[in-house]
Amino acid sequence: MPKFAKLTDAVTADVVVVGAGYLGLSSALHAAEAGLDVVLLESHQPGFGASGRNTGFVVPSLKTSLGPAEVVGALGADHAGRLLKLVADSGKAVFDLIGRHKIDCEAVQNGWLQPAHSRGAEEALHSRMPRLLLAGVDAEWLDRNAMLKRTGLPSLHGGIRVASGGQITPLAYAHGLARAAISAGVRLFGDSPVKGIEPDGQGWRIRTADGEVRARRVLMTTNALIGNLLPELRASIIPARVFQIATQPLPPALRATLLPDMAPVADTRRHTFALRWSPDGRLVTGGMVPPLPGRMALARRLFASRLRRVVPGLPEIRVDYSWTGVIAGTLDFLPRMMCIKPGIDAVIGCNGRGVALTTALGREIGPWLAGRITDPDLTLPLTAPRPIPFSRISGLGPHLVLPIWEARDAFEARFR
Ligand SMILES: Cc1cc2nc3c(=O)[nH]c(=O)nc-3n(C[C@H](O)[C@H](O)[C@H](O)COP(=O)(O)OP(=O)(O)OC[C@H]3O[C@@H](n4cnc5c(N)ncnc54)[C@H](O)[C@@H]3O)c2cc1C
Repeated sequence: MPKFAKLTDAVTADVVVVGAGYLGLSSALHAAEAGLDVVLLESHQPGFGASGRNTGFVVPSLKTSLGPAEVVGALGADHAGRLLKLVADSGKAVFDLIGRHKIDCEAVQNGWLQPAHSRGAEEALHSRMPRLLLAGVDAEWLDRNAMLKRTGLPSLHGGIRVASGGQITPLAYAHGLARAAISAGVRLFGDSPVKGIEPDGQGWRIRTADGEVRARRVLMTTNALIGNLLPELRASIIPARVFQIATQPLPPALRATLLPDMAPVADTRRHTFALRWSPDGRLVTGGMVPPLPGRMALARRLFASRLRRVVPGLPEIRVDYSWTGVIAGTLDFLPRMMCIKPGIDAVIGCNGRGVALTTALGREIGPWLAGRITDPDLTLPLTAPRPIPFSRISGLGPHLVLPIWEARDAFEARFR
């Protein structure tokens, strides 16, 4: 896609959206469709952040630890009901948008699979089914044999298939959303990191290195790459670095038995085992690695060896590509919608489940910015920022718990 030019003028807008990942792009697109004059500012180019680096799973589900009961416990019945519904519809939101804007991103909507890694996890997942169905999730229970047919992975147990899930090619989806936003009238500027946001009469003056925008409202969609622009926003998330690898193209015969429907799979481990086929026949997987020197090389070794352990009959594999990105985590794994100051709002914290969730949230945020949805009617409660304790070093947290997670996952897989 051609590069988006940087902002070099002083312009005005109704709303400035900061950050062109899926959330900023979907919010800007839907705000423009709701009649607003929108400027979208991106530090680099659309999809530079997690949106261009993720695994491409379209997952109509929150983190594994967040079943309907846990969401109700955390948010109360009203907001929980709305969030569960938004998540249940989020796969459809992605594929509808792709269809409506003819986005070429190798989308496959053949379901998302979540097998359990242990018998105990299988029971816990199974007990969730009635409430998932009640929340409108198009989930189907697959026993161990049925799951094996769908995955070809014999070490995994029974689990859930959500039919409206699937996969996309991440950067292509971001580029498609950018095109759709432009067509709807959004003015998108690349290479324009926002350096400062200052009060300006009734609104705000949003400064980049070479230009500025005056607007009534600002929406921050910077995810984990916020830097020091708004310390209270940065302090509200745990940035967690995640690595991905892709193998060489593998023999077509393997596709007949391993994920034959091209439905991505992510198990219930705390350190999730996730796998999908790329359209050109590579296996894509990844996860976290300890914060040691040479982490990329370590990631390549660790995830290739995990693949060999979990996938039977795998031929000799080579890692052709590896990359990394940062997710924005929260302590309870729930996303946040925050009012930083009157007129500056932020949505953040999709916890590695953001492809479908950000798209669906953006579909609501657009009309909300246009005044068609009131604050109390939003899916997520609009709160003040809640700083995470020791937020400056919180990024170390996931790495400190990783060995404990892995030990518990391995113990459960073997003995429970
Ligand atoms: C390796 C990896 C694998 C993942 N796999 C999956 C998956 O398979 N399925 C799933 O559902 N989720 C997955 N996720 C999570 C998902 O990618 C994210 O939740 C989602 O992309 C977040 O979108 P976003 O728009 O909020 O943020 P981002 O895509 O991170 O976008 C934020 C943007 O803000 C810009 N920005 C920051 N500061 C400024 C500034 N001052 N001025 C201007 N611009 C700024 C950044 O450059 C960036 O482009 C994964 C994440 C990672 C890192």
